Amino acid sequence: MLELRNIDFSYEDSRVLRNINLSINKGEKIALLGDNGAGKTTLFLCMNGVLKYKGDILYKGKKIGNKELRKKVGLVFQEPDVQMIATTVEREVSFGPMNMKISKDEVKDRTDRAITQLNLEEFRKRAVHYLSGGEKKRVCIADIIAMDSEVVLFDEPCAFLDTRNSLLLEKILNKMAEQRTIIVSTHDMDFAYRWADRFIIMEKGSIAADGGIEVFDTDYVEKPMLWKLMKIQGMEDYSRYPRSIEEYGDMYNG
Ligand code: ADP
Repeated sequence: MLELRNIDFSYEDSRVLRNINLSINKGEKIALLGDNGAGKTTLFLCMNGVLKYKGDILYKGKKIGNKELRKKVGLVFQEPDVQMIATTVEREVSFGPMNMKISKDEVKDRTDRAITQLNLEEFRKRAVHYLSGGEKKRVCIADIIAMDSEVVLFDEPCAFLDTRNSLLLEKILNKMAEQRTIIVSTHDMDFAYRWADRFIIMEKGSIAADGGIEVFDTDYVEKPMLWKLMKIQGMEDYSRYPRSIEEYGDMYNG
């Protein structure tokens, strides 16, 4: 669905992305992992058509420019205040569709649907800076849902969220993944392990590993708790590794 070919990017004189090649398939749930400064945010900004990169990005087999890319690929920024530009929740969520050459009715329809889906009705007329961190994050997701992007990138979605809001966000991610291709950058290995079906690890601007849970055999990132537990128990077959506490319980209860 999305193919990155030889993507290179430099901020002035420092080269941040080095020859990135990736094929993203429809419906995948991907976790993008790697230390701070590895280039994850920069890669997202290239994939979303915000930065001017070297190399090619193909959408459904055809080369695609930055303007088109911005319509197909939505980015939920790590810091909501960087993403939000309008005054009220309603204006913020309708801003994207309003710039999309669609009818007024369609704009209203999409805005209403996104606001309902993210449970934001009571905040519709409220100024965005009077929202909590969790509410702001939901507005940023509503922005992207209203744009109807097929691929959605989340840059550290749980940063600044408390446990309750992180769990809510995980539910939202699961629901969104039923219809969209999702890539989430995260430092939370336990979340990545239970949520994703593919793991891409970046190191110093390059792809260091890309695959299933066997990537945790490398030393690029921390290992998830359940993964470590299975290793201690001597389990060799990765396909039998439980991906959640519930699945772990099921292993012992039949
Ligand atoms: P990550 O998201 O993995 O933490 P980033 O993409 O934010 O990594 O950063 C990759 C590298 O690019 C870092 O060394 C960072 O200092 C540098 N960088 C990020 N943004 C800028 C910028 N606007 N100007 C110059 N260097 C930047």
